[in-house]
Amino acid sequence: MKTVNLTINQLLDQIAQFTSQETKGVTRLLYDEHWIEAQKFLLELGQMIGLDSGFDQVGNVILTKYGIENDKSVITIGSHIDSVVNAGKYDGIYGVAAAIIAIKELLAEYGAPKKTIQVISFCEEEGSRFPFTFTGSKNLINQLPDDIYQLVDKTGESFEKAQAKAIHALKSRFPLVKALLPTAYAEIHIEQGPVLERLNKEIGIVTAIVAQKRFTVTITGKSNHAGTTPMWLRIDPLKQAVKMINQLEVIALEIGEPFVFTVGEMSISPNASNVIPEEAIFSIDIRHTDEKELQFFEELIYKFAKKQELELDGLEIEINKWTDVCVERMNETYIEALQAICLEKQLSFNLMPSGAGHDTQIVNRIAPTALLFVPSIDGISHSPKEFTTAENLEKGKTVFKQFIYDLAY
Ligand SMILES: [Zn+2]
Repeated sequence: MKTVNLTINQLLDQIAQFTSQETKGVTRLLYDEHWIEAQKFLLELGQMIGLDSGFDQVGNVILTKYGIENDKSVITIGSHIDSVVNAGKYDGIYGVAAAIIAIKELLAEYGAPKKTIQVISFCEEEGSRFPFTFTGSKNLINQLPDDIYQLVDKTGESFEKAQAKAIHALKSRFPLVKALLPTAYAEIHIEQGPVLERLNKEIGIVTAIVAQKRFTVTITGKSNHAGTTPMWLRIDPLKQAVKMINQLEVIALEIGEPFVFTVGEMSISPNASNVIPEEAIFSIDIRHTDEKELQFFEELIYKFAKKQELELDGLEIEINKWTDVCVERMNETYIEALQAICLEKQLSFNLMPSGAGHDTQIVNRIAPTALLFVPSIDGISHSPKEFTTAENLEKGKTVFKQFIYDLAY
């Protein structure tokens, strides 16, 4: 079977072979040898279907078909090639595969587009090798900070060194180019959540990518003997943590959808069954499309902390906010256009926010964007169990392709 004539599912199976994992599942980290092979594979595929195929200084693969109208429009489509550790075969790469197949079909059916179409396989989005996310899309919009080059991975290798090796490997066969600045951007991605499947909808049209804040809360009390310290003399940080989390949970439920509040990480020390802990540390992750609600909740966290400190002499609560990302709203005209396409093609759809981050939110800083979802079975993602039916992968591509046609032809 020729690579050029693959279905999306077949193409995803091929790309899933570029993995460091022997078992079922995909691990393809930024600049590792499997990442290099995957990007080379896409560059070759781009050449086979008649696209100008090159990569930029951070290793984004850029496949371009110049428009015959020669204006400044650059319709940019794509997603990311990197994965988390022990991932499935759809996250990110579905958007790359759908973009490549859509452009291949458009060229075959309608010839060269009026506007330039640029497909990008972003080098990195997940932050699974180096502690930094969205390298690819930030580089595209010229907002990549210089200080990432000193970052090191778990083995001690620097970002700079890993990148130099990968770029060297790509350079031997393909040209180093600079991407055009997008004037429009569209991405299709698996939902990574259970909503579409639960509602029995075929397509998700994303209205906004949520704002989010993350905190680390450190509560310090007094460690002591579990048998000899009476209850009224204790300064127990874990029980104070539980109290704070329960109070916040009540407020979170009152705020309601689409607000989400998560405590996903907690550690206590010394962590022994017969010792009152000295310290409890936990994370708070909050997300909403309404930044005012997040601000309100953040203020409550500080308020509860202050109150608990005042109520219990000797208790100390320290709060460190380390993520504060604003909401990104997708373009209204595109949202309407996508609804019209779904209606015309008789596909059911749901307008929804995205609780997960995507490259779209970065490109949205400089250009109007659209983001589509297809259903994830059981909402599972970042796992080898990640699954979307071949039928739904194709339906997503159909809507995506029509949208690109309407913009570029
Ligand atoms: Zn992704």
